[in-house]
Amino acid sequence: MAKKLIGYGNFFCWNCGNRIEKGKKMCPFCSSKYGGEDRYGNVSALGAGGTGWSNNTAHPCFKQYYKNSQRYGLIWLIGISILVPAVLLLSGEIKLEAEGIMVMVGVIAVFWSIGLIFLFKNRGDKTAWDGIVEDKKTFQKSRSRKDREGRKYRESYTEYVVYIRKQNNDIFELMEEDSAQYDYFNIGDYLHYHGDKWLHYIEKYDKSLDTTIFCASCRSICDIRDNYCERCGCILLKGGKHVL
Ligand SMILES: [Zn+2]
Ligand SMILES: [Zn+2]
Repeated sequence: MAKKLIGYGNFFCWNCGNRIEKGKKMCPFCSSKYGGEDRYGNVSALGAGGTGWSNNTAHPCFKQYYKNSQRYGLIWLIGISILVPAVLLLSGEIKLEAEGIMVMVGVIAVFWSIGLIFLFKNRGDKTAWDGIVEDKKTFQKSRSRKDREGRKYRESYTEYVVYIRKQNNDIFELMEEDSAQYDYFNIGDYLHYHGDKWLHYIEKYDKSLDTTIFCASCRSICDIRDNYCERCGCILLKGGKHVL
């Protein structure tokens, strides 16, 4: 149960999606191999993603993932609410008197308000749209940061932007500080944004030339030959079989 809560290693079979134990070489349900060069046999990545929209977007795993992350978030919040006052009391930072109790209540209230907003906020736009990748650009930027002694310094970073033209002609800017999605989307790609209650994911129409795919729930980068995300067990939104 504790292992289940913190999450570690490979948890789910990449082929059948069943929960498995770490350290196994082969899935006890479907006999798929986990490691090694022959994990996929002679199946090539090219074409494995298929072409066309996935018909698994209504799969119950997306709702399940969302509900689970809310549940784990609440468990963490409760844990912190016990741990922080305990540490403050034991270290002698605060005492069990009116002022000390006020401080503790204040600290816990801050944790809870941030935590609840984070857990129950709307994850992005709820309206679905279609679009085409029009451009990609990188920007070198810098920002001010503070080190552990409180001294300010400039930190430079790269901003990766993918420009998507939506069907209503608006431009949607997909902005990130790592290149994962920037590398995944190519100019000319036809896309669909799934904006329903549990799923917030930009799907590519033609996945046949890709070697990787993002998990729509936990955003892990998976091999395109996988059917399920090894980390969270959600089904990967691949297209139909690609016919050459
Ligand atoms: Zn399996
Ligand atoms: Zn996942």
